[in-house]
Amino acid sequence: PHAVGIHSFYCVSVIGKGSYAKVLLVKKKDTNRYYAMKVLKKQLIEKKRQEAHVKTERDILVELPDCPYIVKLHYSFQSERKLYFVLEYCAGGELFNLLQKRNRLSEEQAMFYAAQLVLALEHLHRHDIVYRDLKPENVLISESGYIKIADFGLSKMGVKQDDAKSLCGTPEYLAPEIIMKLGYGKPVDWWTLGNIVYEMIVGCPPYYSTNRQEVFERIKFTSPKYPDFLSASAKSLLEGLLRKDPSRRLGSAKGALEV
Ligand code: ADP
Ligand code: MG
Repeated sequence: PHAVGIHSFYCVSVIGKGSYAKVLLVKKKDTNRYYAMKVLKKQLIEKKRQEAHVKTERDILVELPDCPYIVKLHYSFQSERKLYFVLEYCAGGELFNLLQKRNRLSEEQAMFYAAQLVLALEHLHRHDIVYRDLKPENVLISESGYIKIADFGLSKMGVKQDDAKSLCGTPEYLAPEIIMKLGYGKPVDWWTLGNIVYEMIVGCPPYYSTNRQEVFERIKFTSPKYPDFLSASAKSLLEGLLRKDPSRRLGSAKGALEV
């Protein structure tokens, strides 16, 4: 009877909507603390065949040791029709919204966020988790201004070698080896880090186009434009992270240390 459940919270407002989830700002009745409550409808999950992804998300959030740059799960429970994840609340919103407002960030500011993303990826890779879906919508900003990555729906656990195969992620951010349906592994996350750093300092993703086929062609065959205002070290970092051959990509030999 004392278990934490939906009755333990007041709903304050709706904060976000993802592809499958609705996220609410809630306040816990006994402590007055705020949390973000991610609510998933079982019926929709079943209809869209997302059961395995939701299970992975739950397992990662429960089992992964704490990391200051990864959103923390406080409670999870279910009702007959819904699944609930009660997460730490990131009051600063998505990095996506910050980028929309500012157009682009200074290299110094981008470095502050990029360093935290490197630490988050290092933590995941150490536990053989490939994140696969790093993009500005999934990077949240906490009240203190530091970032936390959220949304483990597309992550994959137990990736030791390049043994993942499925085509998933967001078109603009997919690594070439995923598009070409080759086996892939941790280097896909260093690729997406390259994408997000590029987007932060240039103002748009490196392989952007309104035509999906065109996006895939660019990812596979062309190198992005590096504007003149980029510093030599920023350009060199991006070139290293955006190497098409995963075995030559920055991060693939020595991981985060190398980056
Ligand atoms: P989906 O798996 O459906 O994509 P997400 O987990 O990405 O759902 O959540 C959808 C949106 O809700 C996010 O992009 C973000 O805007 C918001 N959100 C999610 N978790 C939190 C959180 N812990 N704090 C604040 N906002 C959040
Ligand atoms: Mg999402």
